[in-house]
Amino acid sequence: MSYSQLVWFKKDLRIKDHSPLYQASKKRNCICLFIYDEETIHTDDFDTRHFNFLNQSLIDLRKKLNELGSNLIIRRGKCVEVFRELHNKHPFDTIWAHQETGNWISYQRDLKVLSWAKETGIQYREFYQNGVVRKLHTRDGWSRIWNQRMNEKIIPTPSSIHSPKNIDCGQILKPSEFNLNSTTNTKELVGGESHARQCLETFLRERGKNYQKEMSSPVTAFDSCSRMSSYLTFGNISIKEVYQASKERANQIRSKKSKSNPEDKGWLKSLSSFQSRLRWHCHFIQKLEDEPEIEYQNINRAYDGLREGAFNSEYYEAWLKGQTGYPIIDACMRALKDGGWINFRMRAMLVSFTSYHLWLHWKKPAIELARLFTDYEPGIHYSQIQMQAGVTGINTVRIYSPIKQVIDQDPQGIFIKSYLPELNSIPDHHLAEPHKMTQLEQSMYGCVIGKNYPKPIVDHSEAYRGARDRIYSIKKMKSTKEESKKVFLKHGSRKSNRRPARD
Ligand SMILES: Cc1cc2nc3c(=O)[nH]c(=O)nc-3n(C[C@H](O)[C@H](O)[C@H](O)COP(=O)(O)OP(=O)(O)OC[C@H]3O[C@@H](n4cnc5c(N)ncnc54)[C@H](O)[C@@H]3O)c2cc1C
Repeated sequence: MSYSQLVWFKKDLRIKDHSPLYQASKKRNCICLFIYDEETIHTDDFDTRHFNFLNQSLIDLRKKLNELGSNLIIRRGKCVEVFRELHNKHPFDTIWAHQETGNWISYQRDLKVLSWAKETGIQYREFYQNGVVRKLHTRDGWSRIWNQRMNEKIIPTPSSIHSPKNIDCGQILKPSEFNLNSTTNTKELVGGESHARQCLETFLRERGKNYQKEMSSPVTAFDSCSRMSSYLTFGNISIKEVYQASKERANQIRSKKSKSNPEDKGWLKSLSSFQSRLRWHCHFIQKLEDEPEIEYQNINRAYDGLREGAFNSEYYEAWLKGQTGYPIIDACMRALKDGGWINFRMRAMLVSFTSYHLWLHWKKPAIELARLFTDYEPGIHYSQIQMQAGVTGINTVRIYSPIKQVIDQDPQGIFIKSYLPELNSIPDHHLAEPHKMTQLEQSMYGCVIGKNYPKPIVDHSEAYRGARDRIYSIKKMKSTKEESKKVFLKHGSRKSNRRPARD
């Protein structure tokens, strides 16, 4: 009997720089498979926006595989059951796949597939696809490994793929077939390898020029940030390819005669900041890889009990609906619903607000934000959420003022007003704290606080002071400091004294 090879596509929906596909394609009869995995789709952190991006990626992948003479076989179900059924009809002797650091459910799924393959006598060949190191013993030297991997040769796209022709290809399915609603938002980016490359190209040629200066404001960030995050999450492009393209662009600029041109200097700074963030991408995912439990529990257990039992559902609902009475918070929440993306500074501020001002435990907001972010990447997400909630013990406690953020990042209300039309006629100087307008001003500008726009749900200064005292009372304890040392040893960045995750 002749056995096939099976390439299992997961969060690596591309054909270029794809080791499993390249290796398997060298043999005859290569089955390319994607599974709509019932278990990972029916989780709290999964949303239609992820499904849509996934489907767009599948359409592009199928087209590209067709051009290479193959097809993308699509199935739905629990992964082991799908593998078993396929193997019964079309035996394969090797599964080729990428390692994935996902949520708890996908981690369990991978273990089940691995164990089934072992029982069935099928080889399971797994490859890394980023700088995350499996079974890492120490964080010392991690950056060196990352650099080494990012500078490895790009794996070429196979020139052709021989696939068995007698397999039913299966359909790209609709969200409604998984009880997901069927909305498609035109403000969302479109998934797929072709779009990923276009997005990278426009960033490296034009949009990234002022990246370093413009990444923090939601007025400029939508254009000046790379917007590569969802493409990286779904593996529409490899992080290595993105890194090498940005290095190549920097080298091109350096080789120009007009090196001292301010525009070129700006470009070089922007590209260097961008490359650092690509390293952070893997640095944060490494934390979840090393300790999958951080999806559910504090990285630093000394903070256990700090916010449990204090959950105020009214605050939570107001935050979720963009009805807190703080314009920049509300605009961000509404922008996320609309387009599935917001920049780093605003994400950090949203979590700081729920964690400090509203004193909510990070778990429920984390799930909600996971559903709102098209680029949801569990390793970055949970590490960042915990850092912004102040429960790692190894990062500076940063409590963002939602008032100062308006003054610093959107003083003319360009972003805010595009999402909060009820504030349209308010003069700029009232935008940070509209509730401070007099009654007369409120009626003059057609925005009565409590009627057209909510009164702040908490007082900023009072909430800030209360939260700061509570968090520092734990942070300064000897037992917390001891725990923090352990956290640093396991997860801390060893790269000089710089802390990652600021912008
Ligand atoms: C609370 C919170 C949750 C977050 N959740 C996610 C998430 O689920 N998925 C996700 O991709 N990013 C997450 N981030 C990190 C960051 O906000 C996004 O990566 C970034 O905004 C994506 O936009 P971009 O692709 O234009 O990024 P750029 O600024 O252009 O950066 C390029 C790439 O570098 C990586 N990157 C950038 N900033 C960071 C960072 N601070 N930490 C780790 N990697 C970074 C991303 O892969 C990004 O695509 C989170 C940040 C916070 C504060």
